[in-house]
Amino acid sequence: MRLILFDIDGTLVRGAPPVHRQALCEAARAIFDVRLTAAEFGQTAGMTDSAIARRELLAAGVPDAEITTGLATFCIAAADAYDLLAPADLRAYHTPHAASTLDWLLASGATLGLVTGNIERIAWRKLSAAGLAARFVQAQTPPDADLRVAPWIGGFGDQAEDRAALPPLALARAARLTGAHPQRRDTWVIGDTPADISCGAAHGLRVIAVATGSVHSLDDLRACAPDAALRDLSELTEAIFTA
Ligand SMILES: [Mg+2]
Repeated sequence: MRLILFDIDGTLVRGAPPVHRQALCEAARAIFDVRLTAAEFGQTAGMTDSAIARRELLAAGVPDAEITTGLATFCIAAADAYDLLAPADLRAYHTPHAASTLDWLLASGATLGLVTGNIERIAWRKLSAAGLAARFVQAQTPPDADLRVAPWIGGFGDQAEDRAALPPLALARAARLTGAHPQRRDTWVIGDTPADISCGAAHGLRVIAVATGSVHSLDDLRACAPDAALRDLSELTEAIFTA
């Protein structure tokens, strides 16, 4: 089993209207009664939504313990807000070659999954609007599968604040959904930031960085020593199948 775990923002989708940040601000107001300003967020590339929330809420004066208590409710509120705010069609915001690369990998027999800082329901809504979600749905789902969104493989930003905790969650869900246990040498993490590289490397997974995000250049990513660093996804299949 060859398992390919994709990041979303900057890797499959980029440049979409900033409704994701607005949704986090809406949730902050609803759950913690504080006003955050999306434009004033610090750098968020590679961070999980829950880590972004904690950082911005702390900066706004919300006590750490209060954030811990309210974070799960915050994530639900943010997903609800995103559902209302997000455009119905995000197909114009694919990174170059995203759809064709996913199709090629599926045709080659690879299994696709996600390791993303997005809250799971936001990931589902975003990829659905981008026309990419169906490619991640596993056809053979055990009848007892306990899934809140869809039978898809992934680790998401409402499941842990630390991105490094997400790949094992994706591997566990892959085992549950497919009945197969992916080997680490056959599992790839694909992302556009040093945090994607380190979260895969921390678990002995193979890592390919793509310089399609808005923050990190190809040289930045090479300096983090991934298994490969690529200009965009057009080079991904060759990098995986010749590795
Ligand atoms: Mg990213």
